[in-house]
Amino acid sequence: MNLSKLNFDAYAFSKQPDYNEATVRKEFAKAVPLRTIVVYCYDPRAVGIPVAVAKEFGEVFPGDIITDEQGNKIASTASLFEVVVAGGRAVDALRSITVAQHLFGIENIIVVHHTHCGATSFTADGIIDAYQLVETGTDDYSYDYGG
Ligand SMILES: [Zn+2]
Repeated sequence: MNLSKLNFDAYAFSKQPDYNEATVRKEFAKAVPLRTIVVYCYDPRAVGIPVAVAKEFGEVFPGDIITDEQGNKIASTASLFEVVVAGGRAVDALRSITVAQHLFGIENIIVVHHTHCGATSFTADGIIDAYQLVETGTDDYSYDYGG
């Protein structure tokens, strides 16, 4: 399959006929009572952070999924969403935070770091070197996907 010919935008809510963003935002806000976002590292040792934050701040996490009569998942009781990124860096979570604010309106953003984070064990120059001739033996990353 030639991935470059797929039109992923065709599946986006915003590309559907009669789409009304203001209406959709109101429905999203009713479907999920999101108030708080917690940003933390994807290190497996940090997995308990959202539950601990929910308990500390009186939020609901993970909450329950609400279904309609046909069994479709249409809502959630969660009031806390998690954004999991390397090192728990807020800058890497900005898009998710922005979307959550736009769709749900959020009141709190909590950033939690953990000790001995592996994401602090490298540098930007080290990553660039790894993708260049120094470590891989090539600087050509133009792949042929068979299209
Ligand atoms: Zn970490």
